[in-house]
Amino acid sequence: ESKARSKGQFTLFVEEMDARYLERQRLKEDLRAAVENGDITVVYQPMFTPDGRELRCCEALARWYHPEKGAIAPNIFIQIAEEMGIVSSITSHVLRQACIDCRIWPASIGVSVNLSVHDLRSAGLVDSVKAILAETGFSANRLHLEVTESSLIEELSSARAILEELRSLGITIAIDDFGTGFSSLSYLDTLPIDVVKIDRSFVRDIGENQRRFKLLRGIVSLSRGLDLSIVVEGVENREQLALLSKHHCADLIQGYVFSMPISPAAVIELAREVESRKGTGGASVA
Ligand code: C2E
Ligand code: MG
Ligand code: MG
Ligand code: MG
Repeated sequence: ESKARSKGQFTLFVEEMDARYLERQRLKEDLRAAVENGDITVVYQPMFTPDGRELRCCEALARWYHPEKGAIAPNIFIQIAEEMGIVSSITSHVLRQACIDCRIWPASIGVSVNLSVHDLRSAGLVDSVKAILAETGFSANRLHLEVTESSLIEELSSARAILEELRSLGITIAIDDFGTGFSSLSYLDTLPIDVVKIDRSFVRDIGENQRRFKLLRGIVSLSRGLDLSIVVEGVENREQLALLSKHHCADLIQGYVFSMPISPAAVIELAREVESRKGTGGASVA
């Protein structure tokens, strides 16, 4: 009897695996179509100076609204695209869109685009970036590219040359999700990097977790010593912002405390609002 039951359970298990596999296959097909049809859209999350008075840069974030399933998180569809070997199409799509959208923003605002670990493996990236800059007439000086700490470590040998070439074009290079990739801090010194984006896991319980906050401050002073500029991600409330400001932990702040990711048109509106606030001498949140 117990044998029969376990056999039944096994059948159920296999069926469930089949269902999941099929669902994943469907999602892959849908993603391929979305990429081909240009259905991946881009939203922008502003980065502000900690006093909230200057909007300096916006991070381009990919969005996919599945017709039946609704919004699929980029963490999920980027990983699927990587598995399928089509992520470089998403990178160039987002990059092109970002260059087009940012052109009509005030010239003081840059745009930051995420690279996949796969982009760091192929020399094709540099040519593609050059082509998109030429095609859109966008200035490389306003473009930032983000690579996660973990992908940098995974592709250390090829990444260095690629990043050096991009940087020689005038592009700013940021290391993303810093502090989560188990890297040796000595990489900060030897890699062609301009900006450190400290991962939001350092900010979440900043008020309670003294040791974690000390770690954040250590990363900050180390980065400052190497002339790197510091963005702190995932700042959600005024308490976190006040603490970071008080201890001079950030050059720029990215997080819900200032803005969620917004449409390209909303960036223009926000930039206007920020400028008019300056006229009245008031800061936004701090
Ligand atoms: P990321 O590059 O670290 O982007 C920051 C993520 O944090 C975004 O999530 C953003 O919406 C979220 N975030 C911003 N402020 C806050 C906050 O105050 N609190 C919290 N809890 N979250 C905040 P999103 O848009 O879901 O993107 C997730 C990740 O997907 C990105 O992390 C990036 O690694 C990846 N991704 C997004 N777009 C692209 C893309 O075009 N290409 C590649 N390769 N990866 C992308
Ligand atoms: Mg990023
Ligand atoms: Mg990040
Ligand atoms: Mg992240």
